[in-house]
Amino acid sequence: MRKPFVAGNWKMNKTSAQGVALVNELLPAIIGYDRVERVVCPSYLAVPAVSARLQGSPVGVGTQDLYWETSGAYTGEVAPDMVKEFCQYVIIGHSERRAKFGETDESVNKKVKAALAAGLVAIMCVGETLEENEAGQTEAVVSRQVREGLNGLVTAAMENVVIAYEPVWAIGTGRAASAEGANAVIKDFIRKPVAALFDEKTAQSVRVLYGGSVTGANAREFFSQPDIDGALVGGASLKPVDFTAIVAAAAER
Ligand code: PEP
Repeated sequence: MRKPFVAGNWKMNKTSAQGVALVNELLPAIIGYDRVERVVCPSYLAVPAVSARLQGSPVGVGTQDLYWETSGAYTGEVAPDMVKEFCQYVIIGHSERRAKFGETDESVNKKVKAALAAGLVAIMCVGETLEENEAGQTEAVVSRQVREGLNGLVTAAMENVVIAYEPVWAIGTGRAASAEGANAVIKDFIRKPVAALFDEKTAQSVRVLYGGSVTGANAREFFSQPDIDGALVGGASLKPVDFTAIVAAAAER
């Protein structure tokens, strides 16, 4: 049985003081849902304060990116060990990084490997754009992102990988995918390539999330699908009531 997983991507929101205020409100509400792996991902500068506040709690902390080199002349970048000092998780290959900051399948793959080498859980995002979707390219794009993102990993490393299917057209738009449609993509274009890369057991045990306009109101529908193990949540993760409802829905899975 795959443990349900809900992660909040705060994107470029919340100073450290605001982030601590958010978790002060959130923590008492979600602390009891032990069936669910719960994670918040603040921006880099808010991570130390939020991580200190969550120390000893069951809620994990992640960053929204990292760089694959361990140290050196990479102005503006953050190394895996620097993330590991405060975090257990890292989001890699978010569509906003792919679209706005030149992230490629190759850089995603380097980052996933570096995250795993540092002992982090990598939440690797994949998903097609609206144009790709309308051109019937969803399978080609998503399965390629899975294959290339996970290229060269050993099977055992997959225990520390979570894949998030985030159709780009559903992120921040209020236009979520249908639960059945998301499940079909995850089953056929994510789990199948994982089986081809590794084996069927890994394909069935790797956790796969849906992300894209998940709210307290629609989360249950997604989590009732057999191949959806949780959610990567953007906008609603900044609203304690909504995020709590999503965690509560995941706990019923
Ligand atoms: C995201 O940023 O990963 C995301 C899914 O955003 P939203 O929930 O706001 O669509």
